Amino acid sequence: IPKRADLVDYNYAVAGHDGTLCDADGELFIKPCTQQEINFYESALNGHPEFSELMPLFFGQMTLNDMTDMASINEQLPAVADHISTHMKEEVIRLAHQLQPDPAKDNIKWVPNKSKKIATNISLVLENAAYGYKRPNILDVKLGQRLWADDAPLEKKQRFDKISQETTHGPLGFRIAGMRVYRGSENPEELDEEDYRIYDKDYGRCTVNKDNVQDAFRKFIFNESAGVDEELGKAVARAFMEEVKHVQEVLENEESRMYSASLLFVFEGDGDALRAAIDEASSSVTMSQKGRGEASGRSTARVDSGIAMDEATGNMILPEDDDDEDSGDDENVPRIYCVKLIDFAHAEFTPGQGPDENNLKGVRSLVQIFDELSREDE
Ligand code: ADP
Ligand code: MN
Repeated sequence: IPKRADLVDYNYAVAGHDGTLCDADGELFIKPCTQQEINFYESALNGHPEFSELMPLFFGQMTLNDMTDMASINEQLPAVADHISTHMKEEVIRLAHQLQPDPAKDNIKWVPNKSKKIATNISLVLENAAYGYKRPNILDVKLGQRLWADDAPLEKKQRFDKISQETTHGPLGFRIAGMRVYRGSENPEELDEEDYRIYDKDYGRCTVNKDNVQDAFRKFIFNESAGVDEELGKAVARAFMEEVKHVQEVLENEESRMYSASLLFVFEGDGDALRAAIDEASSSVTMSQKGRGEASGRSTARVDSGIAMDEATGNMILPEDDDDEDSGDDENVPRIYCVKLIDFAHAEFTPGQGPDENNLKGVRSLVQIFDELSREDE
């Protein structure tokens, strides 16, 4: 049982607003959100199966208020309630209460953003994409040249256009919104308590430009100090390239618009654990067809670029049928990497409008960068 002190905010968020929540190595990720984001998850699930496979698994929505207690969590999330630890529920209750700012202490800015989130108090319950890794390296790449939705106020449009012009959004159609790299520096002073190097939002805004952007991705993936050598790093880059190419294909076949959405990249940042995970996936790749992934219609296993991996196990996080013989094994198959499309506060399906070229611009740039990283010095 984890200690209370270990169960705080979701500390692995690399960008975005405060208020995200997760237990220490939790399966679920809970985020205050807008109704539009919930609607988008639902419409993806209801008619865009390929698109929805790019998104984290969606377990539902919760309305949080100062009446939120154990019973209301169980009621609102019946399908997952059994799998959420008591500690996680306590944290959700804490979040719910903090979302109701005490007028006497109005200097508490729980969601430090003048968004509608406080007024609506709804939260998304998602699969935690960083669950199951020993040392997850995480990268949030915000997509698009244009970052604002049609209904944005003029001030926001102008502010976002300036950001776009001054960063890689302009030339490449994306920017690095944040990242964390296990042992990402030789200098201990540059690492946090968990030995991560954190690159905050200023990194992609001020440091990265179109001429050095490849180095930034290099820093994310290749890391001798954590045992991620050239060979492993190239394999990861190749895997990311394949995943992003798939994102490209899906977006080319959908009619959707998203503004300020992101691609979230995660991989095992501990080189030994990464190698072990790849070896294990290689040996179990043929027997994984029975994995829980099949139930959700997801691809179960595939081998590309010399990496064998088991996506079924990777994508599924809640043991739905624990008595299933295989599930015990599946749960322990270590994770290697994943790529998820996230952040749909300004997203909708737009029949008749053609593919989302604004986001495809960034996606194609990413394919090229990962491709180059996977071939360097060949
Ligand atoms: P915001 O609207 O605040 O920008 P995002 O959806 O972009 O919210 O999420 C903020 C951060 O939380 C992301 O940068 C990422 O690090 C983390 N995050 C988002 N969704 C997930 C998820 N499903 N699993 C793990 N981490 C996530
Ligand atoms: Mn975001």
